[in-house]
Amino acid sequence: MTQADAHLDGLAVASDSPATETLEAILNGEHPAKLAIADWAREMLTDPTLEERDRDCTFWREGWKRIGAKGLLGLLASPDFGGQGHPFTAGLLELEGLGLGCRDDGLVFAATSQVLTVGLAMERFGSPEQTAQWMPGFVTGETIGSFSMSEVDSGSDAFSLQTTATPTGGGYVLNGTKSWVTMAPVADVFIVFATTNPDLGRWGITAFCVPATTPGLTVGENRPKMGMRTTPFADVTFSECFVPETARMGAEGAGASIFTSAMEAERGFLLVGSIGALERVLDDAVAHSRTREQFGEPIGSFQGVAHALSEVKLAHESARLLMYKAAALQQQGASSMMAAALSKLAGSQGALAGALTAVEVHGARGYVTEFGVERDLRNLTGGVIYGGASGIQKNIIARLLGLPA
Ligand SMILES: Cc1cc2nc3c(=O)[nH]c(=O)nc-3n(C[C@H](O)[C@H](O)[C@H](O)COP(=O)(O)OP(=O)(O)OC[C@H]3O[C@@H](n4cnc5c(N)ncnc54)[C@H](O)[C@@H]3O)c2cc1C
Repeated sequence: MTQADAHLDGLAVASDSPATETLEAILNGEHPAKLAIADWAREMLTDPTLEERDRDCTFWREGWKRIGAKGLLGLLASPDFGGQGHPFTAGLLELEGLGLGCRDDGLVFAATSQVLTVGLAMERFGSPEQTAQWMPGFVTGETIGSFSMSEVDSGSDAFSLQTTATPTGGGYVLNGTKSWVTMAPVADVFIVFATTNPDLGRWGITAFCVPATTPGLTVGENRPKMGMRTTPFADVTFSECFVPETARMGAEGAGASIFTSAMEAERGFLLVGSIGALERVLDDAVAHSRTREQFGEPIGSFQGVAHALSEVKLAHESARLLMYKAAALQQQGASSMMAAALSKLAGSQGALAGALTAVEVHGARGYVTEFGVERDLRNLTGGVIYGGASGIQKNIIARLLGLPA
């Protein structure tokens, strides 16, 4: 066997390996797993009431059930809980397909939050009793979880939170209000961060798993917002809310580490639905630019339009590659802090800029409500805020570059 043959032989052996599967997920924007879910979503999640639900801020329960029945809420969860136990790259491919095929970006955001934020945190940090109680429902969608960290006065500076968990006989008493909590109005259980000892700063922060039915827990009204209006979102107030010691996730004071770990996954991957949506936005804008004629020419033949759409392609491809790089690193157990921060920035800024270009390219049709183009722009704006605002991602990158804090 020549050296070249040996090399080829090695490649052939490697073609079924996890590393090759990962590479395939990264490089193949037309991956069959992604396209199959996109096709399924176009068929099963196209909902004629979307425009009305977007106006009224209504969550689509039936769509949620279909996503659960398809197994998409259990993509990453262990088979012990009924999940598919996929590595990140394989799971993200299907979530990307969901974003591509489903025009209800808010429904996709709800699903990705359950999989990537709530589900991952519960599986990694919940006690055996907590995971046994909540994970199977998270996987089927019968149970909805929320992740409650932010407060009115503690957003980017998350560890300055004011919600307290005062140790008392056999448990803790929670007091305080969490803000902007995704899925709160429909949630069955909340992962909540509070301080068990304000004098310890971040080392006093502790995580709890609190069922929505707990006395003293009140969920506010669904708050209308600019985009992702079909994902319900509210404040959650704890008033002399007693939880038993078994509600604690991890040790007292471990909350900051749990939050940091959850954020690394969230900033790396939470934009996956928006990256799928950006591909759809680009496809629609290209189709429109090929058929819409002005001055006797398709508008896509004008360099101004063609170059603007080329920029969207660049933004989409960059965001996608950075997200799968972060995924490959995390599934190898390597540090992905830089890759995740870059992924969050590229995904959110690329999606926002791309959706704005799409509005411009569609002209008045982009600006009126009935074609849904402006809805994508509103939906894709929030990514620069949730999961750590862009300024925070840039701080992380600057620190990792060695710039002074
Ligand atoms: C759609 C949506 C869903 C959300 N879902 C949840 C949820 O489920 N659970 C939850 O806990 N929270 C949630 N949030 C809240 C979100 O995490 C916070 O909005 C976010 O962390 C930013 O905090 P803030 O809104 O208080 O903005 P601020 O922290 O006040 O930031 C305002 C601006 O200042 C900049 N800034 C702040 N500090 C710095 C700094 N040190 N350096 C540079 N720039 C800085 C930011 O980049 C931003 O542009 C959600 C928010 C949105 C919009």
